[in-house]
Amino acid sequence: MNEKRTVSRSNRLRKKQPPKIRFPVCKGKRVVFPRGHVCPWCRKNKLSDSPGMAILNAGAMRPTAPECYEMAQDDAAFMTLSWHGNDTPNNPRGHGEFATIRIADLVDTGQFEFYFCSTDCLRAFLNYCVDDLERRRANHPRHAK
Ligand SMILES: [Zn+2]
Repeated sequence: MNEKRTVSRSNRLRKKQPPKIRFPVCKGKRVVFPRGHVCPWCRKNKLSDSPGMAILNAGAMRPTAPECYEMAQDDAAFMTLSWHGNDTPNNPRGHGEFATIRIADLVDTGQFEFYFCSTDCLRAFLNYCVDDLERRRANHPRHAK
């Protein structure tokens, strides 16, 4: 027991705890993440510092003519990660198992952007999102062990 605690504490010290991020990070009039100018993952670097920033940009475009598009600003943008269970002979309880994480939800103007100081921080954020989906799936009552 004590040995497990030591390993756990050691891992915690070695791996920096992720920031507490509440989902959705963009919703309604909030179309950019973060609100300020500091990287939302490492919280050390300013997004305006050299060499630049990594951007995740998503949204919808409306066709206005063949091969011409404009932003669909009267639409609401979203971004989710989901797990949808399927029945299989080895997993008969799989159907109905559903987990989802709404990273962005009903965002005005049909588009949103996430900013990070580096691709490492962008990657860590995306891993955090997938980890959160796995946590939600593990907590689902129909989760097949
Ligand atoms: Zn960063």
